[in-house]
Amino acid sequence: MTMRVHPAIASLRPYEAGKPLDELERELGISGAIKLASNENAWGPAPSVLEAIQEAMTTTHIYPDAGAYRLREAVSAHFDVAPNRLVFGNGSNELLSLIVKTFTSDGDTVLSSAGSFIAYRIVAAAHGRRFVESPLGSDSGYDLNALLNAVDATTRVIFIANPNNPTGTYLGHAEIADFVAAVYTKTEGNEPPFIVLDEAYTEYVDHHDPVNSPALVAQYDHVIATRTFSKAYALASLRLGYAVCSEEAASFLNRVREPFNINSFAQAGAIAALADGAHLETSVRDCLAERTRLFDGLSALGFTPVPSQANFVFTRMSAAMAANLDPTDGGKRAAQNLYDALLKSGIVVRPMGAAGFTDALRITVGLPTENDRLLAGLAQIIA
Ligand SMILES: *Cc1c(COP(=O)(O)O)cnc(C)c1O
Repeated sequence: MTMRVHPAIASLRPYEAGKPLDELERELGISGAIKLASNENAWGPAPSVLEAIQEAMTTTHIYPDAGAYRLREAVSAHFDVAPNRLVFGNGSNELLSLIVKTFTSDGDTVLSSAGSFIAYRIVAAAHGRRFVESPLGSDSGYDLNALLNAVDATTRVIFIANPNNPTGTYLGHAEIADFVAAVYTKTEGNEPPFIVLDEAYTEYVDHHDPVNSPALVAQYDHVIATRTFSKAYALASLRLGYAVCSEEAASFLNRVREPFNINSFAQAGAIAALADGAHLETSVRDCLAERTRLFDGLSALGFTPVPSQANFVFTRMSAAMAANLDPTDGGKRAAQNLYDALLKSGIVVRPMGAAGFTDALRITVGLPTENDRLLAGLAQIIA
C-alpha cells in the first residue's frame, strides 16, 4: 500500500543530519573528532545559564509557562520591543513554519533566493505551498532586485536570511528598508506579502549599516524579524527562537502556536543568558577574531572564501583545486571529496553540493585549536 500525502511532501528529501561525533570516532577508530558543521557556538553558554537550567529541573513534572511570561518580559526589556509583539518558537525554525501555516492559503507562493537557507523550501512544501527562488547575486548574496522582480500577486511570504546561510553575506539597513518599501509599492492596492527577516546570526554582524529590524517592524505591519538563542547565545539544544512582529500578526501566530512549545529549561536558560551580556560579548568577539583568521587561512591556501557576517565561512575553491580533488568527474564531486577526506581525519564540515554549490564548503568558526586543525587538515589534503 502506498500512503497518500501531498505531492509537495512526497517530493521532499529528509534532512540529513550529520553523524554524532562519538559514532564517527567509533567508526574511524579515532578520538577527538571536531564538528564545524552546524554553526553552533563552540564557546558555549555562561555558567549562570547552566545554573538556571539546573534549578528549572526541580519542576520538570510541571508544564512550562504557556505564555512564557518571564521570558517575554526579559526579551521585551532587553530589546525594547513591546511584549505583545513577541512570539516564541521551539527554535526559530518553528516560527518560519508557523508563519507559512498561519498566513498562507491555497495558491499562495513562498519566495526566497537561491543559495539560501534550505528550511524555507521545506516549510513551504510541508504546507503544500509552491516555493519560488530568485537567482543568487554574483557576490554570493541576495540580489534584492531579482527578489523584487519575482514578487507577484501570489507571493504571500518572502524569506530573507540576513546574514545569509550558507554564504554569510549581509544586506545593510538601507538596502533592506528600500526593498521593503519597494515591495509595498509594487503590491499597492492589495495586502503586501509578509517579509520575514531571518536574523539567526545577527549578533555576529559587524557591518557599517546594521539592520534595525524592530524599527522596520514598527513601521511596516508585514515585516517580521526572527531571531534565535541557538547560535550566539549557545543554547541550540534547548530550542528557542522569537519573532518580532506587529501586534496583529503576533495575535494570529499565537492562536496557531502549540501552547507548551517552549520548555521550562529554554525559558530559564534564555533569561539567564540575556542577563549575562558580558559573556555574549566575549564569545562574539573571540569568534569574530577567529572568523578573520579562518578567512585569511583559507585564502592563503588558495581557497576563495566569501566575506562573512556570521559565525561560519563559506568558501569556494579554484577550478584547478576542484579538478585535482575530483579528476574523474570534472570537479562535480570536489567539495564532497574534500569533505570525505577531512572526515577521515576527524573534522566534520558541511559540503554544499546538495545546495547547488559543488565547489564549496561551509565551515563553522570553531575554537582557535579547532580552526588550526582544520587549516592544517586542508593544507595536507590539497598538497
Ligand atoms: C540556524 C538557523 C536558524 C535557526 O535555528 P533554530 O535553532 O531553529 O532557532 C534559522 N535560520 C537560519 C538561517 C539558520 O542558519
